[in-house]
Amino acid sequence: MNNPLLRRSRFRRVIPSELVDEVKRLVLTAQSIVITCHVSPDGDALGSTTALCSVLRTLGKDATVVTADCPPRSLSFLPGVRDIIVATRQTEKAERLIASADLIFCLDFNCLKRIDRLAPLVEASAARRVVIDHHTAPEIEADVLISDPEISSTSALLYLFLYQAGWARMLTRNAAADIYTGMMTDTGGFAYNSNDPDLYLIIHDLLRKGIDKDNLYKLVMNTSSENRLRILGYGQYRMQVIPQHKLGIIMLSRAELDEFDYTKGDTEGLVNTPLAIPDVTWSVFMREDSADLVKISMRSKGEFPVNLICEKHFGGGGHINASGGDFHGSLSDALTFLLSITKDYDSYL
Ligand code: 5GP
Ligand code: MN
Repeated sequence: MNNPLLRRSRFRRVIPSELVDEVKRLVLTAQSIVITCHVSPDGDALGSTTALCSVLRTLGKDATVVTADCPPRSLSFLPGVRDIIVATRQTEKAERLIASADLIFCLDFNCLKRIDRLAPLVEASAARRVVIDHHTAPEIEADVLISDPEISSTSALLYLFLYQAGWARMLTRNAAADIYTGMMTDTGGFAYNSNDPDLYLIIHDLLRKGIDKDNLYKLVMNTSSENRLRILGYGQYRMQVIPQHKLGIIMLSRAELDEFDYTKGDTEGLVNTPLAIPDVTWSVFMREDSADLVKISMRSKGEFPVNLICEKHFGGGGHINASGGDFHGSLSDALTFLLSITKDYDSYL
């Protein structure tokens, strides 16, 4: 209680003030700033990066969001998303920006492998580095690391940083909507990881900026193409439940995806659906992206650690209740492999 900031803050969480001051110093002495996030960016990755970009531009900085690959179509309505430099489309520009940056922000990822083709560029860059993230065990070498695995989204953590830095008042209505989107998507619309009272103080501030949260919910959580609705329905119809392991599995082969004219983002959220069954503790979604690559997504309830499974067997990771990785092989091999390891995790059930 001797810390004046602790006494003054409306929030329970307080980022150590020396970290906030150091980031402010790095920003104020930088001119060219790149902000990046993990590959296959989701609402939190896009919300946090675009909001920060907007604030940095207001501060007069030459700031750009650079991503390894395209944002999903479902989030293309976010105003800042249009300005993102996507490395697969504008390779040279992405390379030039990263090479000439004097400061790089890494948001919403904890190891450089997660930025895919951008990793060697960021590694080679002489820029100072700031990490703001909520994944466990951050591995990125950084000048400043603001990491809080207890908070439900990087967007909420970014808001706390901006608030402490005295920069929250620079958030425009659009940037406030970006932050809200990130907070909403990483909590399934405030359905999980969302008992933290700080979240609602942040939402209060964002509403005061004029965001239309009901419309954002509709646009982000409840808008689908006809194809996507059909894929979600088909996936659930084909779900397998393995009662002895309290496991729900949904798989989609390349042929099935093609039949539904699958585009990126169409299967978003499908992995959560088996968890609606009270006796299902964890769920796995397997999507056959190519003949020898299956994208794995996992979700769980309570203490069941899907991050452990993804790290150990699928070269991935994530959070205890939401993780992902890859399987190199066919879809049927992926299923056989999954079924061979499930018994190892029965003790967590
Ligand atoms: P999703 O299942 O929505 O693709 O991912 C859920 C979470 O798992 C993400 O927020 C991310 O933290 C993590 N994740 C997904 N795929 C990977 C991956 O291939 N590698 C790692 N390290 N984490 C992943
Ligand atoms: Mn996140």
